[in-house]
Amino acid sequence: MSDCLFCKIFKKEISSRIVYEDNEIMAFEDINPQAPVHLLIIPAKHIESINDIKEEDKELIGKMFLIAKKIAKEKGLSESGYRTIFNTGKDAGQAVFHIHLHLLGGRKMSWPPG
Ligand code: AMP
Ligand code: ZN
Repeated sequence: MSDCLFCKIFKKEISSRIVYEDNEIMAFEDINPQAPVHLLIIPAKHIESINDIKEEDKELIGKMFLIAKKIAKEKGLSESGYRTIFNTGKDAGQAVFHIHLHLLGGRKMSWPPG
């Protein structure tokens, strides 16, 4: 997807503050953080949303959570807690249609989300 923001971030055509990268997955700081730690974990593969995940993607999606766990530990969030979110579609406020896992932590969060 040549005009996708997060494809460009993965390919480093747009700069970001990267906290993790390998050939399949990257994590970087959200440009508009909603918590002291607010990272986005994305796959290199352009998948628009959860609605578009295929059977063949299950390992990749699982790996996104393992990376969330690893980063949460590095950031000292494992005990205090953190939130992981996939926004899907209009009602959830999805703004970028390249699947991304939000990792938020470092403050007490309320429930239910707004
Ligand atoms: P969502 O609403 O789930 O689609 O989230 C998109 C997220 O991407 C928002 O939290 C934005 O702040 C974030 N975002 C948009 N552009 C950039 C960018 N260039 N670098 C980092 N984060 C971004
Ligand atoms: Zn993309």
